[in-house]
Amino acid sequence: SAKCWKAFLKRELLLILTVLAVVFGLVLGIAMREANLSKLDIAYFAFPGTLFVRMLKMVIVPIIICSLVTAVSTIPKTAASKLGGRAVLYYITTTLLSVIMGIILVVSINPGGRLVHNRTGSIRKAEPVDTLLDLVRNLFPTNIVSATFTQVNTNVKEFTTRVPITTKMNVSVMVQPTMANTTAAYMTAVSEQDVVIDYRLVTASKSGLNALGLICFCLIFGVIIGQMGKDGEVVVKFFSGANEAVLKMVRMVIWYGPIGIMFLIASKIMAMENPNQELARFGLYMVTVIVGLIIHGFIVLPIIYAVIVRKNPFSYLGGALQALLTALATASSSATLPVTITCAEKKNNIDRRVARFVLPIGATINMDGTALYEAVAAIYIAQANGIVLNFGQIIAVSLTATAASIGAAGVPQAGLVTLIIVLAAVGLPADDIELILAIDWLLDRFRTSINVWGDSVGAAVVNHLLKDDFKQMDEDELSSSD
Ligand code: ASP
Repeated sequence: SAKCWKAFLKRELLLILTVLAVVFGLVLGIAMREANLSKLDIAYFAFPGTLFVRMLKMVIVPIIICSLVTAVSTIPKTAASKLGGRAVLYYITTTLLSVIMGIILVVSINPGGRLVHNRTGSIRKAEPVDTLLDLVRNLFPTNIVSATFTQVNTNVKEFTTRVPITTKMNVSVMVQPTMANTTAAYMTAVSEQDVVIDYRLVTASKSGLNALGLICFCLIFGVIIGQMGKDGEVVVKFFSGANEAVLKMVRMVIWYGPIGIMFLIASKIMAMENPNQELARFGLYMVTVIVGLIIHGFIVLPIIYAVIVRKNPFSYLGGALQALLTALATASSSATLPVTITCAEKKNNIDRRVARFVLPIGATINMDGTALYEAVAAIYIAQANGIVLNFGQIIAVSLTATAASIGAAGVPQAGLVTLIIVLAAVGLPADDIELILAIDWLLDRFRTSINVWGDSVGAAVVNHLLKDDFKQMDEDELSSSD
């Protein structure tokens, strides 16, 4: 059995190192808090982690393009619509299930009930139709190159200003809740002592990587070159060769992963400002989100896997663990995508055509964790405002949370930005994202892991449902080429 162990160590070395990295990251972070480093020093400290994220990001766009184009162009026409249909059905069902779970939990736990929150400012309602049009508009990027940049910013700036005591306070709220470019800026008067007023300005904005548009382009492009005959074959060969090359790069990046992950986690822990206070303030809300994510990830999704695939979901989880830990450290499903694909193909033996089709699309539109989080957050904010949502409004929350999770890019805290859409749909104040802002960086990590886990289960489910079709096609192809 010593031999057995050795073989196990060798096979799982990377995973073992990654788990150790998470543990060391936590310990290191807690220990280094004593040093009380400044923000700048923490940024220096995080450098190895920053490099890891940059390396992953470097390969995302080539991976999305090459994977999708090769997958779509090599899937025979007969199976393509079945594959797409099953995948979309899976995405929608699981996202709705997680939203429902979130709503049940947040309504029964009522985490916002104890908060007394006096609000100022005005509410501007957004039209749901704008959101929908925006989603569709994004399917067709006007510039496919600029569709590949990405950035999300969330900012809190506090400043103090002096005004004459007689000036009437005018609190402004500007919200532009569209998915392409969500910007929300608001000011709240925090305190009003004599003539000094503290303001807090929160802005959240998302711009760039229009993964949806990129995917749409690649799907159409892939289908066309798949049907083009001889001329198409050259193009298919080019993209599949490029794909192999990029995946080789990914394998190198992944070996750097443990170091990157350790520093990412440690630096985040060092940067926490007031852990005890935050825990006390957000305790019940955090519990609601995390319990929801756990139930969805460790009960609902495994049941779906077991029922459809008829194998042990937890050994599949073991195969995907590397990806889930990368998601935990990077808080980005897009950055994790290269790892997710590698795990699915190398460890979990998912057919590459399925993995390369289902996973890039899943990383962009299938976000179970984000959908659950957005539903919980919106209702929590309603509770904190003493507003009881009626049944129609709860339905509106579930539908917009689903849409907002589809529209959210797979980058850190994108869900916080698209939450504004959910809030606007039921007339809740957008500036109240401040109520959950301080703890979002942490919840973001957990929901991202569940997003990636949902994509991975989706790949297995679709893989299983199409197994026979693929076998048949491969046999046909073999016999016809003889
Ligand atoms: N960070 C998440 C992801 O990449 C999106 C979100 O903010 O919910 O999957």
